[in-house]
Amino acid sequence: MSARALVRLGVVLLLVLAARPVSAYLEFVIPVRGTPTALKWDASRPVRWFARDRGVNGVTASAWQTAVAHAFGTWEAVPTSNISFSFGGFTGASPFADDGVSVIGFESAPELERVLGSTSFLIDTVTGEIIESDIFFNSTFPWSTAAAGDPARFDLESVALHEIGHFIGLGHSALGETELIGENSRRVLASGAVMFPISFGRGVTLDRALQPDDIAGVSDLYPSDGFRAATGAVRGRVVRSGGRGVPGAHVVAFHVATGTLVGGFTLNDEGEFEIAGLLPGPQVIRVEPLDDADVESFFDASDPIDVDFRVTYYERLFVAPAGGVGPHITVTVRPK
Ligand SMILES: [Zn+2]
Repeated sequence: MSARALVRLGVVLLLVLAARPVSAYLEFVIPVRGTPTALKWDASRPVRWFARDRGVNGVTASAWQTAVAHAFGTWEAVPTSNISFSFGGFTGASPFADDGVSVIGFESAPELERVLGSTSFLIDTVTGEIIESDIFFNSTFPWSTAAAGDPARFDLESVALHEIGHFIGLGHSALGETELIGENSRRVLASGAVMFPISFGRGVTLDRALQPDDIAGVSDLYPSDGFRAATGAVRGRVVRSGGRGVPGAHVVAFHVATGTLVGGFTLNDEGEFEIAGLLPGPQVIRVEPLDDADVESFFDASDPIDVDFRVTYYERLFVAPAGGVGPHITVTVRPK
C-alpha cells in the first residue's frame, strides 16, 4: 500500500529576511510509521527532470535550461555523494502541476514579492521517498544567465543551485551573516552555504559553487561508498542548567585544520542533535540560537523553538573520528 501526499514545504529563497550569523544543514524529516525519516529520492537511478518550455525577458528557454543543467551537474559532481540526474526534455507542463513529473520553470507570482523561487514535493508517505519535485522561478524578477552575472539581474544558476538543494531533500542552512538595511531588510555579507535562505542579491554569482556545509548535507543523504568511513559524526544534547532540552538550537562544528564549518540543529524537546559528514580531527563546537525573525525559514511556525539563550562553546575540543560517532557531548546554555 502506498500513500502519496503533496507536501508544499516552505522552501523559498528570500530577498530579505531578518537573520543572524549561524550555521547548519537541515534535512526534511517526516514521521513514517512513527519513525522520523529523511525525505529522499531513490538514488539507484538518475533522477529525471523536465524543463518548462518558456523563457523570460532576457533569458531564452534554452539559456536557462543550460544554466539549470549546470547547477544539477554541480550537485552531481560532489565526489562523496552518489545522486545523479537526467534531463528528460522540454515540456509545456507547469511547475505547479502535480502530475508525477518533476518540472522546473518560470511562473509569474507577483504576490510573492520577496520570493525568487520555491520547491515543492510529492512524496510517498509510507517510505519517505520523493516521487516528484517541482521548482518554480518567479518571472516577476529580472533574471540573467550571463557568465559573469548582470548587476541588474538575479543569477539564475545561483538560485537554481539553491532550489535543487531543496529538490534533492535539503532544507535551509543557517550559515550566513547579514546586516540590517532600514526597518526589516537585510543584506547578506557572507554565506557559508548555498542553502542559506537569503539571496546574495542581484549580480552576485557566488552561489554557483557548493560549500562544505552543502556537501556534507547531500553526502549524508546520498552517501557514496567510503563516505561514512572517511567522515565522522558528533552527537549530543543542548540543555538548560536544570537539564531541560533546548529545541531548535544551532550546533556548529568548526574543523580547526581546514576552517570548514558544518552544522545541524537540535530537533526535539530533549535537545538532541547529530551532525554527520565531519572531517576527522579536532572540532570547535558552538551552540547558538536561531533569531526570532527567521525561524520560519527553518521550522514550522508550530514548532516550539527556543531562542532565549546565549551563544555557548563546548568547553573542550571535540575530536571527530573517521567512520564513527565520537563521545556524546552535552552543552549547557544560559538564558540571555
Ligand atoms: Zn530555500
